[in-house]
Amino acid sequence: MQYEEFYRWSVEQPEAFWAEQAKRIHWHSPPRQILDVSLPPFRRWFVGGTTNLCYNALDRHLEERGGQLALVAVSTETGVTRELSYSDLYREVNTFAAVLVSLGVGKGDRVVIYLPNIAEAVFAMLACARIGAIHSVVFGGFASHNLALRIDDAQPALLVAADAGMRGGKVIPYKPLVDAALEEASWKPAHVLIVDRGLDPQMTRVAGRDLDYATLRASCDGVEVPVAWLESNEPSYLLYTSGTTGKPKGIQRDVGGYAVAMALSITTVFDIAPGQVMFSTSDVGWAVGHSYNVYGPLIGGATSLLYEGLPTNPDPGIWWQLCERYGVRTMFSSPTGIRVLKKQDASWLKKYDLSRLKWLFLAGEPLDEPTAEWITRGLGVPVIDNYWQTETGWPAITLMPGLDLKPVKFGSPGLPSPGYRMKVIDEATGEELPPHRKGVLVFEPPLPPGCLSTVWRDDDRYVTSYFSHFNELLYSSLDWAIRDDNGYTTILGRTDDVINVAGHRLGTREIEESVSTHPACAEAAVVGVQDDLKGQVPVVFATLKQGVAEPPAEVARAMQQRVVQQLGGVAKPARIYVVNALPKTRSGKLLRRSLQALVQHTDPGDLSTLDDPNALEEVRRALDRGPDQ
Ligand code: AMP
Repeated sequence: MQYEEFYRWSVEQPEAFWAEQAKRIHWHSPPRQILDVSLPPFRRWFVGGTTNLCYNALDRHLEERGGQLALVAVSTETGVTRELSYSDLYREVNTFAAVLVSLGVGKGDRVVIYLPNIAEAVFAMLACARIGAIHSVVFGGFASHNLALRIDDAQPALLVAADAGMRGGKVIPYKPLVDAALEEASWKPAHVLIVDRGLDPQMTRVAGRDLDYATLRASCDGVEVPVAWLESNEPSYLLYTSGTTGKPKGIQRDVGGYAVAMALSITTVFDIAPGQVMFSTSDVGWAVGHSYNVYGPLIGGATSLLYEGLPTNPDPGIWWQLCERYGVRTMFSSPTGIRVLKKQDASWLKKYDLSRLKWLFLAGEPLDEPTAEWITRGLGVPVIDNYWQTETGWPAITLMPGLDLKPVKFGSPGLPSPGYRMKVIDEATGEELPPHRKGVLVFEPPLPPGCLSTVWRDDDRYVTSYFSHFNELLYSSLDWAIRDDNGYTTILGRTDDVINVAGHRLGTREIEESVSTHPACAEAAVVGVQDDLKGQVPVVFATLKQGVAEPPAEVARAMQQRVVQQLGGVAKPARIYVVNALPKTRSGKLLRRSLQALVQHTDPGDLSTLDDPNALEEVRRALDRGPDQ
């Protein structure tokens, strides 16, 4: 079927369309109702149907493809490669599930997973899904404060962590961060289950609380754990993401809708059939990792390649070497990953046999044209930009080569995915804008299957964060967008105070709060500033309390260290300026957009509400002088 027809069917007859797509997965009992919209803006898909994500990812394939590779976990950090068939993965997941059960974890309990990009992360996620426990993976690059916030919100029965991760050959101990997080958090899970990779000989354990996975694994090896059949709308997992406040939102995913969205997108978007190989360079801690390192390829009976390491280690050809070795058909990465490679010799792209590579998908941040052109030329395959959010769980705007490839247009991720009814509307009036006019990208409810069902234990926040921006009940993506005459949409950045660093979404408020914990800090403002490699980087402007005697450079250095310690290296401020005043409105609101414009030498916009003009001059002087750190 052609894209136009497929898309029209999905939005004009959503129930018929999704009833048909639901046949792509196994249902223990079929849905009674395809769509329930009795409580807008909430919606429930496949009501009354029972299913299980782990069953669809593993059990269902055993008979036909038990011996086929399901997961290849490559670490160029430790030099270890693990190849697991569907049968091997089934055994490991059941063993992990048996360990969870032995620790009293059951249906509806939360399990926080704080692991690097290793096979155990996949085992742990699928084991939770098997028994109906709700996993919440926390990206390993986040530090103790971020972990503590998530622990307090998810209130897990168990925390699964590693002794350490590695980056560029350097061991990064995780356990001290876990201990610090548990010290800070008010919620204390009964146990910490440690996957000891033998990387940190100094690791300490808290007696009674900390348990060794290898020991428990040995006692549960080979045990089979029955699948918990869940109603389609029960929660499957939480994934926290940044918003405009310092408190991250627990994006809650359902079971049935997500399984169907994965089964649909892995074939029609990513063009992966059973037995084919998908390589996503994402970390499992991000939405892409959940959907296209774990659930999508496995539900689709494919082989998933998981990678721990840098794109340039041991050399800049490593990704392509893996593509050759495993016959990767579809690769998925981020624009930043490609910009890192772009700094290297283009001949690395030609060194390996990539004849089986058909597509490179890139997502998570705007894809600039020079990068898109460079990689398209270098690889000689179509490069497909796709736009989505943690909230959507799968691409909302993309091309669908598995169905019918429309022309790639550099600068635009393409056309709406099935089920997404989109408009670009005027921020002030809420009216729909014609093509070529910049506005806010909104989705008309009901959101398609796969998108978030709510914010964990906070339905009000779901409504106020996403559906209260305009008169009508419309989901606001909080992104600026513009469309051309053919419906190709271009994303023009966030409308809120969220920034995107190397494809990672960070709230400026979270970084400001972290900087403000420095005793000398009076106030901090953080803005995202354009960066050639990472897309954006955080830049801090801080005022100090009266009477601070330390030199500004020293304070700034300590502030930077604090952010790394509390939030992790991803949030590290690129520059810190100590200033005497920050530009604010008369009502005291920080003028972050003007601040950002000053740093980027663009138009600072409407300054009529500015309280103190000297504050702007002060910022200009600081920029001329150069950063304190
Ligand atoms: P996250 O929830 O971390 O995946 O971040 C989602 C945000 O990343 C979106 O709201 C956009 O601002 C940005 N984003 C994701 N994909 C794209 C893309 N293909 N082009 C432009 N921006 C993107």
